[in-house]
Amino acid sequence: MNFLSKITGCFAMPAAENPTVAMMDAAYAHHGINARYINCEVAPEKLGDAVRGARAMGWAGFNCSLPHKVAVIEHLDGLGESAAIMEAVNCAVLRDGKLIGENTDGKGFLKSLRELTDPRGKNIVVLGAGGASRAICVELALVGAKSLTVVNRGRDRGEELVRLICDQTPVQADFAPWEGSYALPADTDILVNATSIGLYPDLDARPDLDLTSLLPGMIVADIIPNPPRTKLLQEAQSRGCAVLDGLGMLVNQGVINIKYWTGVDADGSIMRKRLEEIFSA
Ligand code: NDP
Repeated sequence: MNFLSKITGCFAMPAAENPTVAMMDAAYAHHGINARYINCEVAPEKLGDAVRGARAMGWAGFNCSLPHKVAVIEHLDGLGESAAIMEAVNCAVLRDGKLIGENTDGKGFLKSLRELTDPRGKNIVVLGAGGASRAICVELALVGAKSLTVVNRGRDRGEELVRLICDQTPVQADFAPWEGSYALPADTDILVNATSIGLYPDLDARPDLDLTSLLPGMIVADIIPNPPRTKLLQEAQSRGCAVLDGLGMLVNQGVINIKYWTGVDADGSIMRKRLEEIFSA
């Protein structure tokens, strides 16, 4: 008998709306992993104390969500490759007594995308240039996408992301300003919506695209987790595109976190089922 559980969790503010704990608990229970996932609301000025507390208690690791993904870096002992390029961490992992910052957002997206296609050699258009887009673009570039086009409303953020990709990865990315309806180039293989457009409660919102440029055979991925079937995905599917929803990214980053923290390959379908129950309630 072992009454000492591994401790994992999340530091964020706000924290109450984050359903990750439910999906992680489902995986821990299903696999009989003696671990807890504790969802913690941590104010920015308390982040250092929270990390010191996690170290003192020997936490196996923790997720960081908004607004801590960049600020946490100064409290860690090192960074994984893609987290160093992105300068953002969503998952800290205790390795040999050191807390190492990883970014599993983009890796989770990649794992989910690979269920449909290998992004290597593909022409990819990404809508948005915020934190999630940055994580996705860096991972797509590191695994050998052929081209990356970042489409963003704000020019500065879009151009900054393109510069980062060109400077730090082997891929030459380009920026497309988002003025009016964006028409996808005909040779696009994969479109990713990495904006917050369509997130609950804005169920009818859809990124402003020339819908006639969505061609059969293209893959359209939306990272909005709630609702899983966004307006964009409904349109894309009706035009013959293959679609990928945002639950895939959320679940797969959780699967990778569990692997980092416990060594167990968790069954993503159990985690997805739990999230579907929550989002349909
Ligand atoms: P950020 O705030 O960092 O970035 C938001 C992006 O959306 C920016 O590029 C912004 O453009 C763009 N945007 C927002 N509103 C509009 C609009 N009306 N028209 C055009 N562009 C718009 O957010 P994150 O990158 O952290 O998150 C983005 C979304 O991804 C969120 O909805 C979040 O829920 C989801 N997400 C999903 C995950 C998953 O696992 N499925 C994981 C992480 C995030 P601009 O720069 O011009 O402001």
